[in-house]
Amino acid sequence: MSKHRFDVVKDAFEKKAVTVIAPSDRVSDYFGELVFNRDKMHKYLDAKTFAALDACIANGASLDMETADKVAEGMKAWAMEHGVTHITHWFQPLTDGTAEKHDSFMDYDGKGGMIECFDGKSLVQQEPDASSFPSGGIRATFEARGYTAWDPTSPVFIQGDTLCIPTVFISYTGEALDYKTPLKKALKAVNDAAVPICQLFDPSVKRVFAYLGWEQEYFLVDEDLYAARPDLMLTGRTLMGHAASKNQQLEDHYFGAIPSRVAAFMRDIEIEAYKLGIPLKTRHNEVAPNQFELAPIYGECNLSNDQNQMMMNIMNSVARKHGFVVLFHEKPFEGINGSGKHNNWSLGTDTGTPLLAPGKDAKSNLQFVTFFVNVLAAVQKHNALLKASIASATNAHRLGANEAPPAIISAFLGRTMTGVLRTLLEVPSDTPIEIAGKKGKSVGLVEIPEIFVDNTDRNRTSPFAFTGNRFEFRAVGSSANCAAAMTTLNAAVAEQLLDFKASLDKELSAGKALNVAVMDTLKPIIKSIIDTVCFDGNGYTDEWKAEAEKRGLDTGVSVPEMFKAFTAKPSVDMFTRLGVYSAKELEARNEVRWETYSKKVQIEARVTGRMAANHVVPAAIGYQNLLLKNIRLMKEDFPEDYKEMAAVQIDLAKDISSLVSDIRSKVSAMVSARKKANAIEDEYAKAVAYHEIAESLFAIRKSIDHLEEICDNDTWPLPKYREILFIN
Ligand code: ADP
Ligand code: MG
Repeated sequence: MSKHRFDVVKDAFEKKAVTVIAPSDRVSDYFGELVFNRDKMHKYLDAKTFAALDACIANGASLDMETADKVAEGMKAWAMEHGVTHITHWFQPLTDGTAEKHDSFMDYDGKGGMIECFDGKSLVQQEPDASSFPSGGIRATFEARGYTAWDPTSPVFIQGDTLCIPTVFISYTGEALDYKTPLKKALKAVNDAAVPICQLFDPSVKRVFAYLGWEQEYFLVDEDLYAARPDLMLTGRTLMGHAASKNQQLEDHYFGAIPSRVAAFMRDIEIEAYKLGIPLKTRHNEVAPNQFELAPIYGECNLSNDQNQMMMNIMNSVARKHGFVVLFHEKPFEGINGSGKHNNWSLGTDTGTPLLAPGKDAKSNLQFVTFFVNVLAAVQKHNALLKASIASATNAHRLGANEAPPAIISAFLGRTMTGVLRTLLEVPSDTPIEIAGKKGKSVGLVEIPEIFVDNTDRNRTSPFAFTGNRFEFRAVGSSANCAAAMTTLNAAVAEQLLDFKASLDKELSAGKALNVAVMDTLKPIIKSIIDTVCFDGNGYTDEWKAEAEKRGLDTGVSVPEMFKAFTAKPSVDMFTRLGVYSAKELEARNEVRWETYSKKVQIEARVTGRMAANHVVPAAIGYQNLLLKNIRLMKEDFPEDYKEMAAVQIDLAKDISSLVSDIRSKVSAMVSARKKANAIEDEYAKAVAYHEIAESLFAIRKSIDHLEEICDNDTWPLPKYREILFIN
């Protein structure tokens, strides 16, 4: 007999904050302690090996095996001082999360004893049995080989007793089977396309970096309540549950005081993050009850994305120490906000110039406007593809609702930049560009100094918002690997910059001055983006949907359909031209996307059916039995008046019967739809069929939630929203 729900709730409620023992040093003293960074390179490598590895990291020079052996030796010495016994290649396959397979340092020494060994070969490359990772048919199961290869640009780190080596993951025939490989290719593409443009403004520029600052939203749920919810355990979200009377309507959670158990958890993950060199900066309560957010200081895109993946792993494991489970699902609870992972993105040069922030003079402003406009043109051209890059079975529940961006990719510029662009269209091309910076604004109280107002306001309804020195891609889902969105965005921008440069070169070779040539090339682009992708209004309205359709933006809401953008001609042309994905990889990845979509909905559908049969219906019938007994007793004692006296009980008993039979018929219709869908061979068609099944789950939950509302609280077996969301 399982514990009564009340006892589970009571146990959860009584939990106290865990005491977190922080290192006595200052953060700056232990920051990066578990990362093989430059300090460790200096300490554990000889000068020649250091120089070779440094060149490899900074300029992508290749490492010879002799150097790799020495690097491995140094890493091993460092790792063993931290009690490390195992190594793993750490990679990001096309599943949720990261993959690792640990190998011990131990080996025979050839003389009957054992030694610890780790050489360059096992640092640089490994061959995990890859047959069980999604590959979209690239790797037929008889050819199970997949290779992981070290990415020296992301530092090796220690997790527990294991040395983790960030790697790419590719097939025997060279196709990428992971998120990291295409991201690195896209970052190279944007660098290659941006550098020649920057050099027109400053010949000393040698590299352009893409930066990422992610904001990770998440829910924390007490682990005992979580364990009593099969839907949370198996799907990461509640498939049923009546709304609590109070949810987020008082707006009292956002930025509220952080509850003590949660604060201890946050402190703990920060310590772990700092040891791993993850520069966490911000933590706060989010809008929904038990929803929170953390964000680091932004960094180079590939590294920052690795750190996000590391962070999600840290959060999962540390949460259990505090009796919590972290929910990264985009929509764990109906009726309140879901979670996103805003990707703040920008470009900057190795000379320290930000390319998406207004500058100090007309020349730097011209460079800024060049990049700013080209980014928007890229977003315009590939708006459907960018939406596809953030689409998933789980994010589908969040997009389009009144809490996250609508399912139309448009860009918010704010008043200042919209004004600048409009002016540029009207003035002669050689007019120096002026951009108003932060303005002082008096708050009207003498004791408070002027506050500085940014040159952009905010628009929470925009999926791609300019925020003064970066764009914020707000449609990315909280459980996603940022690389999916970042690969697409960086590639789209790279392509646009190449096209822009080609047009610009024509103007320059006609003898125009740089500023005139740039503006003459930009003007038609500016006109087009203002008319199409730029939208500062409320993205949730029906008028915007109609208007967006007229403007030619993609407004589709079916996730299986959205994925088709990946194999549409403009996308294939762009990705193959830049060498980011081959046509074969694009097709294979869509197979994986559709398959994953169908499987996720299939699991949700199964869980819904089983919870209905095993939890909900028995509870409802139990309560109905009580009602019937009462009605029978009434009849025995008051044969004349019982119908009137037991009117409520009779109604309730009838309502329960009709809801139970309604649930049963909807579940069996859903089961037969599933059987039909399962028989479909084509992954796209199957995903389309599962899309309909996903919609039908909502109708089932409506009836279940209604039952929860009318049934006896005492016998309801599943922790309720008011318990899961308010205990912490
Ligand atoms: P918000 O007010 O939008 O919620 P947060 O402070 O939570 O902002 O997060 C903003 C994120 O944007 C941080 O990760 C921050 O480091 C990052 N960021 C700031 N400037 C840039 C930039 N130029 N490029 C990329 N990311 C940036
Ligand atoms: Mg933000």
